[in-house]
Amino acid sequence: MEQMQTEIDQLSLVCQAMWTLIQDNLDISESELKERIVALDMLDGVLDGKMGAVKMKCPECDATMNNKIKHCMFCGYQPESGGSPFTGA
Ligand SMILES: [Zn+2]
Repeated sequence: MEQMQTEIDQLSLVCQAMWTLIQDNLDISESELKERIVALDMLDGVLDGKMGAVKMKCPECDATMNNKIKHCMFCGYQPESGGSPFTGA
């Protein structure tokens, strides 16, 4: 639970850094950001203020993986995480 809070705090920090950087460098308004949030929110068909779970297939055993769980629950396959800011730099 504590680790999840840490991850949320890290993501919030990364998001804030990106947004302030974008505002500083590009002419994008907060309302454009809000429009984009709604558009992305709707990708899973539900406007709930959250990203839906994107299902993907495990390349090793073909089981369905949830992208929120960072490994395959069946064979233990772990996708390469190339130090993305979203996975905790
Ligand atoms: Zn697998």
